[in-house]
Amino acid sequence: MTWWNWYCYDCKWRGVAQELAEDFDTEEGWVCPKCNSIKIEDMGWHKEEDENTRD
Ligand SMILES: [Zn+2]
Repeated sequence: MTWWNWYCYDCKWRGVAQELAEDFDTEEGWVCPKCNSIKIEDMGWHKEEDENTRD
């Protein structure tokens, strides 16, 4: 199973804070590591079963 708490509204990436990309040009300083969007949010911890993580 996978734990995540950060979510990207643009590309639906889910992950943890350590995976976020740094971008000092933005107000927050952190962006989505996949699409560089600032539309990311700490959603609180979620547990995801492995079978649901497959595309
Ligand atoms: Zn994204």
